[in-house]
Amino acid sequence: MGKTLSEKIIGKHAGREVKAGDIAVVNVDVCLTQDGTGPLAVKQLQKMGLMKSANPQKTVLFIDHAAPSPRKELSNDHNILREFAEETGSYLSDAGEGVCHQIINEKFVRPGDILIGADSHTCTGGALCAFSTGMGSTDVAVGIALGKTWLRVPETFRVICDGNFSKGVSAKDMILYFIGVIGADGATYKALEFTGSAVKNMDMNDRFTVANMAVEAGAKAGLMESDDVTRLFLKAMKREKDFQKISPDPDAVYEKEFRINISELEPMVSFPHTVDNTRKVSEAGDIKVHQVHIGTCTNGRLKDIEIASRLLKGKKVKKGTRLLITPASRDIYLQAMGKGYIAELVKAGALINPPGCGPCVGVHQGILADGENCLSSQNRNFRGRMGNVEANIYLASPYTCAVSALTGKITDPRDFL
Ligand code: SF4
Repeated sequence: MGKTLSEKIIGKHAGREVKAGDIAVVNVDVCLTQDGTGPLAVKQLQKMGLMKSANPQKTVLFIDHAAPSPRKELSNDHNILREFAEETGSYLSDAGEGVCHQIINEKFVRPGDILIGADSHTCTGGALCAFSTGMGSTDVAVGIALGKTWLRVPETFRVICDGNFSKGVSAKDMILYFIGVIGADGATYKALEFTGSAVKNMDMNDRFTVANMAVEAGAKAGLMESDDVTRLFLKAMKREKDFQKISPDPDAVYEKEFRINISELEPMVSFPHTVDNTRKVSEAGDIKVHQVHIGTCTNGRLKDIEIASRLLKGKKVKKGTRLLITPASRDIYLQAMGKGYIAELVKAGALINPPGCGPCVGVHQGILADGENCLSSQNRNFRGRMGNVEANIYLASPYTCAVSALTGKITDPRDFL
């Protein structure tokens, strides 16, 4: 019987043939934790008497969620990670280097890998055709110490995306649309396989955006086959030797199939307080935005900052609206400065956060006031997500975010292109 991407990758790491529904113990290639979940993982290892890393070169500890630290308690948590890295030889990605899901995929993940991360958006690595999934701190702690974990092999939903994106419509709109259709729990513990001409034509920036949000439909992983686009990305990261071609078998068995006609897509926006509460931007109505945020592991890449810079160049952010930009990594920040994007954004009135998660998770760098609306390029808009349960978060693409910063309300970007 033919195999899906997940069955192929998990089977290889289990050392036997597997199919959906099987329980498998697998070797793990890469483990990640971040400053929210990592200290818990280290404390679990201490309790278990397992203060070690089976594969320190591929155990990566990120200080990105509250970086630099806004409180002494978090500063102490950061030091737990720094000390564990020192003790075990694990890789520490300290404050200022960037968001875990950006760095891990730039530097560590290879097609065919299994990556486990104590962060729900670890699924981003599926864009490189890795089985990449989020787990709890204790599971990841054991994976770090023993180099193994266990998984139930997920059934797979195939998402076929054909057609061409219209101007001002992007991969972010595609994934918001899909989550709106399937629902926030529509793919619980399933693997999503994204395919079709629109996916084949996407660059890696867009593929990461799509895979990043697989978990917002409840999915265990969101994968794409590896191809020349993957190879060229790895080459640009000076890791071309890490490339391998992996495709699902033509007779792979899928539990469900979905088709999206990309040519018909419009800019989308998720309304508060769930990601699947989607509408077309053209039908959003008159919604004032007090803050716009462009950044995060979903849309904080160079391409996203370039879009914002292009749309805001020579103009001003609307009075009464704040625009925050958070580059996803130091390299992206440097490139954006080198190309003049940051200067244009600052001239337009934007505030630039250091590379990291920025205000996405609500600990610092842009907490909303009661009753305020934020339009963000991030992946999640749960009540209280950005630090205030009395505020509202709307999700959209960098195009929509950038033009909305100019108008001060949620605005269809197609009118500005
Ligand atoms: Fe999580 Fe947001 Fe950081 Fe991404 S940017 S890892 S979603 S807090």
